Amino acid sequence: MIAELFRKVLGRGRSINRPKLTIHAVKRHGIRREDISPCALRVTESLQKAGFEAFVVGGAVRDLLIGRAPKDFDVATNATPEQVKKVIRRSRIIGRRFQIVHALCNDEVVEVSTFRALQAAPEDDQAADEHGRLIRDNVFGSQEEDALRRDFTVNALFYDPNKEEVWDYFDGLGDIRAKRLRMIGEPAQRYREDPVRMLRAVRFAAKLGFTIDKAARKPILELADLLSNVPSARLFDEMLKLLLSGHSVECLRQLRTEGLHHGLLPLLDVVLDEPEGARFVELALSNTDKRIAEDKPISPGFLFASLLWHQVRLGAARIESQGELPTPALYLAMDEVLDAQKEKLAIPRRFDAVMKEIWSMQQRFMQRGGQRPYRLLEHPRFRAAFDFFVLRAASGEVDQDIARWWEDFQHADDTEKEAMLVVEDKPKRRRKRGPRRKKPAGENSSTALDTHSKHTQPDEDDLDD
Ligand code: ATP
Ligand code: MG
Repeated sequence: MIAELFRKVLGRGRSINRPKLTIHAVKRHGIRREDISPCALRVTESLQKAGFEAFVVGGAVRDLLIGRAPKDFDVATNATPEQVKKVIRRSRIIGRRFQIVHALCNDEVVEVSTFRALQAAPEDDQAADEHGRLIRDNVFGSQEEDALRRDFTVNALFYDPNKEEVWDYFDGLGDIRAKRLRMIGEPAQRYREDPVRMLRAVRFAAKLGFTIDKAARKPILELADLLSNVPSARLFDEMLKLLLSGHSVECLRQLRTEGLHHGLLPLLDVVLDEPEGARFVELALSNTDKRIAEDKPISPGFLFASLLWHQVRLGAARIESQGELPTPALYLAMDEVLDAQKEKLAIPRRFDAVMKEIWSMQQRFMQRGGQRPYRLLEHPRFRAAFDFFVLRAASGEVDQDIARWWEDFQHADDTEKEAMLVVEDKPKRRRKRGPRRKKPAGENSSTALDTHSKHTQPDEDDLDD
């Protein structure tokens, strides 16, 4: 009792009472040993045989209880990383700040982490920043402490495959049945410790079809700004998880409802406010969700290219109206948009090349004469650029007929291809012999991306040639 009072006064504990552990037998939860992946089974068995505690934990238990196939299996144990390494032969310790162990079996990797306490030692006054955000949480702890440091009750369930028991400290099982996301501890304090939990709440709600309970929901709007203190690389990872959750449309809708979309993808607000841009983004996202449902691969570069496309178009049009030629205007706009993103949401540079390629190839779909369509078809990024073009057509930005033409052209034989070529491109080849004439500023009546025009622009060069 006194110890508990101490914990509260020192701010180390929670304003909830000490959790009460309930152990559910299989008849109450229904998870069988066979539902666990062979690798996770092997890891828990080996650790238990060596005298340690070992449980499957987190998302996998939650997903099994809901009746979904888990994405991956994590194991929590009271063995230290070195001890785990000794017990599991094919394993390696990773991470510096807080070490975990990757256990490897065939093509499966299971993450094994040692039970951890929520906070650093009391003497560590550098453990949080001035907003209360935890910078360090690297202290080993008991299973109970490990449960306490987790975010939602439904994510804090431990499954023992040997006994087929679910260990539940916060009635997570009840919350799963009620389809409810309930925060462990005091929600505002937990969001302050780690503002990313606000995004996690939205992602899980959208993905699982759960409601965020009132107490967990209430502080979000007020604390949303704390997300700006989160390192941008982490924000990016979380944003990507959200977009690739298979429920991105719903996630985005909820982000807006909770007032969390500001500052995440800073330009997204603008995009979603423009009917044309919004339609394109929505189509791109529902297309992504569909691909995930069908187990097809997703390219984050493609996704970010879609989210930022409208800004690129607007930027290019603005720069052109100031007298720049279409192609340089497009390139300037691409850089402008990517730079603006970098400040807030570090889209890693490795995606820049893909995005730029997809964007810059768009105007080449308008050129359907001579050798150009053949060359475009051979471009290594053709597929992505074409899919992007199809989305633009579907959103009404470009002529559907042209997208259909490209669909047919790809599958046509040589003779058919020849017959399909569009003759308007001919003057372009003639012009190549003479010196180039640059249009004076302001004479351009169409932009590089104004692709409703059936004619190609004689001044435009192939961007990749
Ligand atoms: P997913 O299906 O998206 O992988 P998950 O619940 O497994 O969902 P992870 O990010 O893989 O989520 O994290 C594993 C577990 O670690 C969570 O279930 C939760 O218990 C804990 N956890 C992860 N991130 C946090 C956080 N920011 N704060 C508290 N606990 C967290
Ligand atoms: Mg997980």
